[in-house]
Amino acid sequence: MLIDCHVHTNLEGTSKEGFLRALDAAGVDKAVLFSYQPASFSASAAAGGGGAKENVPDPAAALKDLMEWAAYSDRIVPMFWIDPLDEDAQEQVDRAVAAGVAGFKAICNRYYPGDSRPMEVWSRIAAAGKPILFHSGILYADGPCSNYNRPVGFEPLFDIPGLRFALAHVSWPWHDECLAVYGYWHFRRDVGAVTSDMFIDTCPGTPRIYREEVMRKIYGIGYDLEDGIMFGTDGSTKYDAGYTEQILAMDKSALDSCGATAEQREKYYGKNAARFLGL
Ligand SMILES: [Zn+2]
Repeated sequence: MLIDCHVHTNLEGTSKEGFLRALDAAGVDKAVLFSYQPASFSASAAAGGGGAKENVPDPAAALKDLMEWAAYSDRIVPMFWIDPLDEDAQEQVDRAVAAGVAGFKAICNRYYPGDSRPMEVWSRIAAAGKPILFHSGILYADGPCSNYNRPVGFEPLFDIPGLRFALAHVSWPWHDECLAVYGYWHFRRDVGAVTSDMFIDTCPGTPRIYREEVMRKIYGIGYDLEDGIMFGTDGSTKYDAGYTEQILAMDKSALDSCGATAEQREKYYGKNAARFLGL
């Protein structure tokens, strides 16, 4: 089972049939699809954005669009992109859960993940039994915002009961810090201090020359990271099968050079994501 855990809605990539054909061409069984970015993020050039704010679907429209994708095929796993500073963020969580989302996506572009209002939203998501996939690492957006996305900033989330959360891009360029934070979470879970579950999404971001180094560290560091890493592409509904094939080839050579076992590969390519998503 190959799961791409990181795919964005691109308003120009509207053919559902074409999307599934591209997944087939890349050999991807399931894709985790994020709803269109919230207005607070949409003036940025990142993540397929660049659109004017006035053209951005409101949260209800973004959720409706997302669920239409999910209804088209059970290979499309829907995640709602939430802005926890929206006044009705708590209600947005409830509405998305009621609509049947598999989880939530967030990018901390003007708040720290451990700030009190976001923490209340993450807690509500955890109480609903849903996971959250976060951007982490350098953030190309409107202005200075990368500092909100440093791995250590996510430590307060360890203490949210039952929360399943993932940091994307191995937090590049803070990949060492990301692995250290995972190690700290792993320690706290092992001593029974927390009940959260942490994951790392390896989607690029990480430039090619760092990728093999990152993989070597993941398999060599000794924090059972093989149980927490997930394959992703940071692609979009304008899915580029050739790009996914390039990442798969890059990862295969990195995994080969680490001597990763068949079982470790199965976890990386699908099993860990299935656990993250509660599939
Ligand atoms: Zn992304």
